[in-house]
Amino acid sequence: MLRIKRVATVVSNYQKEEAGEVARPVRGCGRNCLKSCCIQDAKLPLYAFKRLNKVGEKNSPVDEVREPPVAFLDSLILGEWEDRLQRGLFRYDVTACETKVIPGEYGFIAQLNEGRHLKKRPTEFRVDTVLQAFDGNKFNFTKVGQEELLFQFEASDDGEVQFFPNAPIDVENSPSFVAINVSPIEYGHVLLIPRIFECLPQRIDRDSFLLALQMAREAGNPYFRLGYNSLGAFATINHLHFQAYYMAVPFPIEKAPTKKMTILKGGVKISDLLKYPVRGLVFEGGDTLEDLSNTVSDACICLQDNNIPYNVLISDCGRQIFLFPQCYAEKQALGEVSAELLDTQVNPAVWEISGHMVLKRKKDYDEASEENAWRLLAEVSLSEERFQEVTALVFEVIASGELDAQASCIDEVDVVTTSDHPAMVAGTQECLVLQ
Ligand SMILES: [Zn+2]
Repeated sequence: MLRIKRVATVVSNYQKEEAGEVARPVRGCGRNCLKSCCIQDAKLPLYAFKRLNKVGEKNSPVDEVREPPVAFLDSLILGEWEDRLQRGLFRYDVTACETKVIPGEYGFIAQLNEGRHLKKRPTEFRVDTVLQAFDGNKFNFTKVGQEELLFQFEASDDGEVQFFPNAPIDVENSPSFVAINVSPIEYGHVLLIPRIFECLPQRIDRDSFLLALQMAREAGNPYFRLGYNSLGAFATINHLHFQAYYMAVPFPIEKAPTKKMTILKGGVKISDLLKYPVRGLVFEGGDTLEDLSNTVSDACICLQDNNIPYNVLISDCGRQIFLFPQCYAEKQALGEVSAELLDTQVNPAVWEISGHMVLKRKKDYDEASEENAWRLLAEVSLSEERFQEVTALVFEVIASGELDAQASCIDEVDVVTTSDHPAMVAGTQECLVLQ
C-alpha cells in the first residue's frame, strides 16, 4: 500500500477554508454560489458549437472546417479571462512570471512560477488509485463562485454556432462549464468541466472526451491546447475536468518524431513517440471526429480500468492527441526518485511532460537546461518493457472495440486493416499481433 500524498495546487478560490473573505454582491446566500440559493436566476454566456461529424459527415482537416468570421471562441475565452484578471480573481499574476525557451534541440520551455506553490491549501489524496468515487465533502467545482465561471459550452441543436450572452443556467440539463483556473500557469488558463452538476469523478468517458476534442476543434488555434491528468498522474481535484491554455510556441512534444504503428479501420493512426524522454502514443486522423475521440477514450478507459495513471495532451486543434501512461507518483511513493529531483517539487503533469516546465525555485529556473528537463521527464516514463506491456493491453481493448463495431460483417473480423497498412490481426482475446 502506497502512502497517501498531499497535493498542493489550488485551482479555485473556494478551495481555501476562508472562502467567505472575498466581497461579493449580496444575492441568494450572499456567496453567489452554484447551489439552488443562488443559481435560480443566474445568467451565464452560452457558446453552442456546431456539432461536427454527424452521420455521414467526414472528418475534414481543420482548414476545411468553416472558419468563423472572427475566432469567436478564442475572443470569448480570452475576453472573459481578462475580465477575471481585472477583477483580481487570480492568486498571482501569471503574466508577470518569467518564461524562457531553453536552448537545445527541443526548445523546452521553463517558467518560474513561485506563486503557484505558495499559500497552498493541500488536498488529501491517494496517488495509488486512478479511479476513486466522487466525494462531495472534498473540494469540487460545484463549490466555486459564479464569478469564476466564464461560459457554458455545449453542442448547438440547430447545427450552427450560436452565442447567447445571457443564458439561464439549466441545472437539470447537465450544462458543461468553462471556468478560470485561479492558479494559472499561462495566459488564458481555463478549466473545462463537463456536465458539472453530475459530479463525475476524474475519469475519461467517451462523451466528455469528445467535448474536449470539440473545444480544441472549435477554438481552431494551434496554440490552444487541452490537457488531462488522471488521478495518480497529478490531477489535484477528483471532479472531471480538462485544463487548457494558450502558449504561442510549439511544445517540445510536438516536435518529437513518431513512428506509425497501425491504422485502424476507422482511419485512426496510432504512432509511437520517438526520441522523447517520456514514452507515449500518438493518435491522429479518423474518418470522423468521433472515430478519433472514441479510440483515444477507449485507450484512456483501458488505462484507468487497469489502474495505470496517465496524462493526455490534445494538440494541433484537436488533430493530434498524445497519451502518456506514467509512474512518477508511484516511484515517488516507493522512494525511487532521487532527492535532487524531489527537491525541485515539480509535479510532472501533462504540461511538464509536453515540455512546458513549471518551476517553483529560482535556482531551478536559472539552471534550467535540456539535460535537466530530460532527466526529470525520464523518471516519469514507463520503462520500455512496461510500456510495451501497457501498449499491448491498450491495443487489445481498441481492437475488441473494432470487432464490436463490425459485428455485422463477420467475414472480415480477423483482419482489421487494409493490406497497405501494417495489419492488426486479432487472434484470441489475450493475443494481438502487430505485423
Ligand atoms: Zn448561494
